Amino acid sequence: MPDQLVVHNSLTRKKEVFKPIHEGTIGMYVCGPTVYSDVHLGNCRTFVSFDTIYRYLLHLGYSVRYVRNITDVGHLEGDADSDAEDKISKKARLEQLEPMEIVQKYMNGFHDMMRIFNTLPPNIEPRATGHIVEQIEMVQQILDNGLAYEKNGSVYFNTIKFAEQSDVYGQLSGKKLDDLMVETRDLKNQSEKNHPSDFAIWIKASPEHIMRWNSPWSVGFPGWHLECSAMSTKYLGNHFDIHGGGGDLKFPHHENEIAQNHGACNCSPANYWLHTNMLLMNGKKMSKSDGNSITPQQLFTGDSEHISKGYSPMMLRFFMLQSHYRSTLDLTDDALLAAEKGYRRLMDAHKALTAMTHPGQGSAGALDKEIQTLIAGVSSEMSDDFNCPKALAKIFELVTKVNGLKAGHLSFEEVTVETFEQIKATFQLYIFDIFGLADDAQAAGGDDGKMDGLMQLVIDMRATARTNKDWGTSDKIRDTLQALKIKLKDGKDGTEWTVE
Ligand code: AMP
Ligand code: ZN
Repeated sequence: MPDQLVVHNSLTRKKEVFKPIHEGTIGMYVCGPTVYSDVHLGNCRTFVSFDTIYRYLLHLGYSVRYVRNITDVGHLEGDADSDAEDKISKKARLEQLEPMEIVQKYMNGFHDMMRIFNTLPPNIEPRATGHIVEQIEMVQQILDNGLAYEKNGSVYFNTIKFAEQSDVYGQLSGKKLDDLMVETRDLKNQSEKNHPSDFAIWIKASPEHIMRWNSPWSVGFPGWHLECSAMSTKYLGNHFDIHGGGGDLKFPHHENEIAQNHGACNCSPANYWLHTNMLLMNGKKMSKSDGNSITPQQLFTGDSEHISKGYSPMMLRFFMLQSHYRSTLDLTDDALLAAEKGYRRLMDAHKALTAMTHPGQGSAGALDKEIQTLIAGVSSEMSDDFNCPKALAKIFELVTKVNGLKAGHLSFEEVTVETFEQIKATFQLYIFDIFGLADDAQAAGGDDGKMDGLMQLVIDMRATARTNKDWGTSDKIRDTLQALKIKLKDGKDGTEWTVE
């Protein structure tokens, strides 16, 4: 009997039992990256979190339509919604490239990084520039419903009128309209808006703005928030199950998205809003402008003053899984070194477990019961708002049992064959299918286990050489592997290999 899934809904600030709109299927929309610069590790944390959530939903047997967009127009400097330059337009002007060259370059880089972190691709990855027609239609719907107004070729969402009709605006972010009026008063271009808290849904392009489309109001471009309303509606319908993104998107992006959907079709877009917390470095928000940032590449190579060595992508994914998606994650060299030890312990235990066989005739003793409870605990923790760190803690308790059985401190006589096979299945399911970890060699090179196969061949050749007292060959194998920093460890269950 699977555990009941409970998720934390940012809209109600409570944990709620998850109930899909249509039984067995889930529509999930996650805000993707703005592709005007290299993806940073904070972005990766958010997408790895949603990848793990997606994998768990699939494991629970849901048929999931996972939509993650690419923002390739409309995101203005400093997250402004009018009278600022589009991030992609600006980069294109500075680098003297076509905006679509900028988009392609950084989108390719983003996809490469998602592959390196072993994330599953979404089912649909719509781009804002490919959905201008849908966005124009939505602006028209909001105008027709009287919740937007046009000024000098730009169209603004009327937050005051919306607030008069319902108490929806501000519900997600907890912001009050009165505060917003004050907070946003000093922004530029306020004169065009009726109220400081109104936001642009269509923006008339200034002459130097490269990205521009015809519309009934002006040659211009859509506001940033609009694309996600238009694309989630197109692919998931007016009302779908899960909407996700980083916590920094709650306001203004998601608050305004909700307002737009209400404005267009008088309905709330998603039942459950899930937000990931921020990645910090040495206790401060990772930020490029403060010099407090590190690229994924620097983490892989170790080429940064902030870290003492390089870390593998899968170890970094493991590091991310060690904290809950709603908690901040502080990246420090000490934390990475500690995580690396844990990651090795886990992978070594898995490798040992794969090679182990139950001798048979075990009976269900206290140890068997303890293991069964731990196995059940793994899924209970995951079903409690995708609590990866707690699920991992249960897996590590299982690692202790596996190591005990291997070393002989614990007896197979107290564990049934079925329970032992369940440990194997749990490791395989969680480590690889749900946590999305992979053998590093396999993940980096996508070698489908060729490295493992080759190493087994080398280990077998060395064993044969030793049996034949062919010391020349066995020494050569050992020395060559040593030069490649591959370590062999002989144990009673055979020879294991690790990369130093
Ligand atoms: P952007 O490309 O800036 O639109 O961001 C893409 C995604 O990454 C959004 O869901 C952001 O909320 C998320 N994000 C940005 N910075 C961080 C950070 N430091 N930690 C975690 N997520 C972040
Ligand atoms: Zn979005």
